[in-house]
Amino acid sequence: MDHKSSFELLVATVLSAQTTDVLVNKVTPHLFAAYPDARALAGAEPAEVGALLRRLGMGMFNQKARNVVGLARGLVERHGGEVPRTLAELVELPGVGRKTANVVLGVAFGAPEGVVVDTHVQRLSQRLGWTKSDKPEQIERDLMALFPKRDWDMLSHTLIFHGRRICFARKPACGGCGINDACPSAFHAENVGRKAPRSPRRGGTQA
Ligand code: SF4
Repeated sequence: MDHKSSFELLVATVLSAQTTDVLVNKVTPHLFAAYPDARALAGAEPAEVGALLRRLGMGMFNQKARNVVGLARGLVERHGGEVPRTLAELVELPGVGRKTANVVLGVAFGAPEGVVVDTHVQRLSQRLGWTKSDKPEQIERDLMALFPKRDWDMLSHTLIFHGRRICFARKPACGGCGINDACPSAFHAENVGRKAPRSPRRGGTQA
C-alpha cells in the first residue's frame, strides 16, 4: 500500500481490512492531504473522515472512519502522535491486530516480531505442507519455527505475491508454478487451504 510514513502505513493497513489495497490506495491520498499526521486525524470528526472514505463501500466507510480516528487518538494519547515500534504497544491500539502490527513492524521499521498471516499466507502454508492448522495464530507460530527471523517479512510478501499470481484459491495454476515439483499439493490443491464461505457480516472490522 502506498505510504510516506509509518503513520500512513498503519492507517492504510487498518483501512484495508475487508477491502482491497487498490481501493485503499485510491482514498488515502485524499485522507492524508486533509489529515497528514496523527494529531490532525485525532482532532477530526469521524463523519468528516467518512466522507473521504466513501469509495471503500457503503456500510463500511463510517465504521472505518471511526476506527482510524480512534486509532489516531490512541497514538496521540499514548505515544505522543508517533507510531510505536513494538508488537505489544501496537496491538494495544484501537483496531490494530497482530497482522497489522507485523505489517508495520516489517515494512516501516524492518523489525517484524512475527509473520503476517493473511488469507494467501494461510492458504499457501497449508498447501506447501508447512502447517496442519487453519488458525492464523498457529500458522504464524509454525512459520516462525520453520524460518529464521530475518526471512519473516519477505516470506509473507513472497507468499502473498505467489497467491495472487499463481496459487489462486480457486484453480491454482500448478502447471505453470515453478515449485510444483516440491509442493505436496501440486495438481490437487483446489480444496486445500480454502476458507469456508463467509457467514453474513454482523458489523465491525478486524485488522
Ligand atoms: S504447485 Fe500448485 S498448489 Fe503448490 S504452490 Fe504451486 S500453484 Fe500452489
